[in-house]
Amino acid sequence: MNVSREALTSDGMETRGGFRDECGIFGIADSEDAANIAYLGLYALQHRGQESAGIATLDGELVRVEREMGYVADVFDEARLSRLPGRAAIGHVRYSTAGASHLANAQPIVFATGRGPLALAHNGNLVNAREIRRRLEQSGALFTTTSDSEVILHLVARSKAPDVASALAEALLDVQGGYSILVLSLEGIFAARDPHGIRPLSLGTREGSPVVASETCAFDLIEARFERDVEPGEIVRLSRAGVTGRRFAIANSTPCIFEHVYFARPDSTVFGKSVAASREAFGARLAREHPAEADLVVPVPDSGMYAALGYARESGIPFALGLVRNHYVGRTFIEPKQAIRHFGVKVKLNPVRDVVEGKRIVLVDDSIVRGTTSKKIVRMLREAGVREIHMRVSSPPTMASCHYGIDTPTRRELIAANSSVEEIRQFIGADSLGYLSTEGMLEAFGRPLQATCAACFTGVYPVEIPEEELEKEGAVAR
Ligand code: AMP
Repeated sequence: MNVSREALTSDGMETRGGFRDECGIFGIADSEDAANIAYLGLYALQHRGQESAGIATLDGELVRVEREMGYVADVFDEARLSRLPGRAAIGHVRYSTAGASHLANAQPIVFATGRGPLALAHNGNLVNAREIRRRLEQSGALFTTTSDSEVILHLVARSKAPDVASALAEALLDVQGGYSILVLSLEGIFAARDPHGIRPLSLGTREGSPVVASETCAFDLIEARFERDVEPGEIVRLSRAGVTGRRFAIANSTPCIFEHVYFARPDSTVFGKSVAASREAFGARLAREHPAEADLVVPVPDSGMYAALGYARESGIPFALGLVRNHYVGRTFIEPKQAIRHFGVKVKLNPVRDVVEGKRIVLVDDSIVRGTTSKKIVRMLREAGVREIHMRVSSPPTMASCHYGIDTPTRRELIAANSSVEEIRQFIGADSLGYLSTEGMLEAFGRPLQATCAACFTGVYPVEIPEEELEKEGAVAR
């Protein structure tokens, strides 16, 4: 166990600066190869979290778990997977921005409870976890992690409800935020989404066994058939007998638009829509809102690829791969030291001089967060002889932090929260800069603002953020 003490606050939770989750979850209810299939499923979800990976299986009455810091491919080998017998499995990949190792927080989290062993895998963030944890600790609960997810297991374990499904329903009425969760128990695997359905979670079938995953790209890999999404406010039980669902809360669906802008894989269908199609539509709309006189449309790979395709199609300007990404860069190499981080963008991206030299280009990326990536890319492109750089961003200015499970810096560090578009243009050094409008993004997404979580762009949070969380983030003046 290696938990960074500096990152802990007196209430045992970590500060926003020290701990944020982006995660992927996967489950399979009834298969001879449960652990192996979960391993493959996590492989397809690796983009959702690269810090740790874990799988828990149910073998008879026993839950076993293997988890470790690192990529799925590094954490699991044949020997490790063979230590995970059983026909039901859940898995988790996690990413947090904390520099220190956090094995204690790797998931699935496993608890021995009065209703048998329970394992939990969680994607998202609970905004009232701190408050619930305080309440539980006052009545004697001992927490084993600093993660917000653990409160759910405590609530389930303490519930007097007759079965896991009812106990989970009770627990989920207590927590608030954006969450998709899986619970492995003697009564089957339970999958649930928060009443706002902020994070994705889809159901499928593989050789007669129910499967569940954050994104449908996991089903493609394991040759499962997509069935439907877990509905907002629904708990679904997956078992040998099949799938049964029940509502635990009234749905008020506001899915996260940033999943479509950046986070999800383009080959996934998320919230019933193709992510690739959304991104192309954002790019096409961007071309109409911010045209440019240019010779080429160049994406920032990989995140700007589909939006750049949409921009090129709509504008008629040729699409060109003027930047190449090195796909063999691990996060761990570029993260730890300031001296090394300086090379970060250069390690990842390199211009193709032959393609871009002497050209006027439209440079397309999905978002500008702190502005440091765009600044470095613009400088690299100028060094490669690009004549004009018209930066186009396929989402609106990122104005506010996410409190529902996407890693974003605090408001203080978000360039758009503190500068005008013209100031940002000057900072990154582009000849012009244009962002997709919020209306344009929503129209291309096909949902109105009141049926979408676009808090990172609008600062309007569909699930209220407790004052103490905002204070920790520095978003309110004191
Ligand atoms: P920045 O240098 O902070 O402006 O980062 C912008 C780059 O980070 C863009 O290329 C985005 O594709 C990417 N990006 C946006 N959001 C995230 C996120 N939550 N985690 C990791 N990368 C991100």
